[in-house]
Amino acid sequence: MQVAKILGVPFKTSGFEETVTHLTGRIDAGDRTHVVTANPEVVMVARSNPHFRAVLDQAYVVPDGIGIVYAARWLNYPMRERVTGIELMTALMERANAYGWSVYLLGASPDVIGKAASTLSTQYPQSRIVGVRDGYFCKEEEAAIVEDIAAKRPDLLFVALGSPRQDEWIHTYWEQIQVPLAMGVGGSFDVLAGAVKRAPLIWQKMHVEWLYRLISQPSRWRRQLAIPQFVAAVLREKWTQRMQS
Ligand code: UDP
Repeated sequence: MQVAKILGVPFKTSGFEETVTHLTGRIDAGDRTHVVTANPEVVMVARSNPHFRAVLDQAYVVPDGIGIVYAARWLNYPMRERVTGIELMTALMERANAYGWSVYLLGASPDVIGKAASTLSTQYPQSRIVGVRDGYFCKEEEAAIVEDIAAKRPDLLFVALGSPRQDEWIHTYWEQIQVPLAMGVGGSFDVLAGAVKRAPLIWQKMHVEWLYRLISQPSRWRRQLAIPQFVAAVLREKWTQRMQS
C-alpha cells in the first residue's frame, strides 16, 4: 500500500472504499491495526512532539482533511480523497452490523457517550456494543478500563479523548488491549449524540468543513492557527524537493 510522507508523517494514499476493504481484510486475517485519522493540525502537533510522531510512525494513518489531500498532491503523491474519522467509523459500523462484530466505545462525556451508544445500537442492531465508558477518568482508573476492554475482547474499539491523547492512549495500551482494530475518533461521538452538528453537505463538498467548525466552535481558532503554518511548511518542503531534483 502506497504511503505519502507529509512533513514526516506516513499517510496511506488509498481512497475511502479501498481503505475500508483493506481494514476489513486485516480484521478477518487477524492482523491488528491502530488507525489514526490525521488532519493538518495533527501533523503540526507531530512536528513538535517526538513521542506522538513515533506513535504515528507505527500506526495506520489516513488523511482526515482536504489540507492533507492537497499537500500530498503538491508533493507529487497520488492521493485521491479524504478518509474522515466519522465516515470511516460509520463504514466500520456497517461492517460490524453485517458480520456481528462487537464494539467498545470509550470517551466523551457520560451523557454524550450514552446517547452515541444508543444511536449506534439503533442504527446497527446486529453489531454488539459490549462496552461503553466516558472519557473523564483519572490515571488511577486507567488500569480497570484497560482490563475491561481486554476482558470484553471487542472487534472494534473507538476512542474519543481528543487528539493527540486518544492515539497516545491506544498506543500505550496496545499490547494489553489486544483489539483487532482501534481508532481515535475525536468529536465523532458528539456528532452521533447530536451535541455537535457536522457541516452541511454543501460545505463538505466545497472543502470548507474546517471553516464551518471554526464558525460553530470559535474556541477552536487557536488550534486552527496550525492550518496556515501547515501550508507554509508544505510549501517549504515542496521547494526543497524542487531544489533537489
Ligand atoms: N474528551 C474526553 N476526555 C477528556 C477531554 C476530551 O472524553 O479529558 C472528549 C470530548 O468530550 C470530546 C472528544 O474528547 O468528545 C474530543 O473532541 P474534539 O472535537 O476536541 O476532538 P479533536 O478535534 O481533538 O479530534
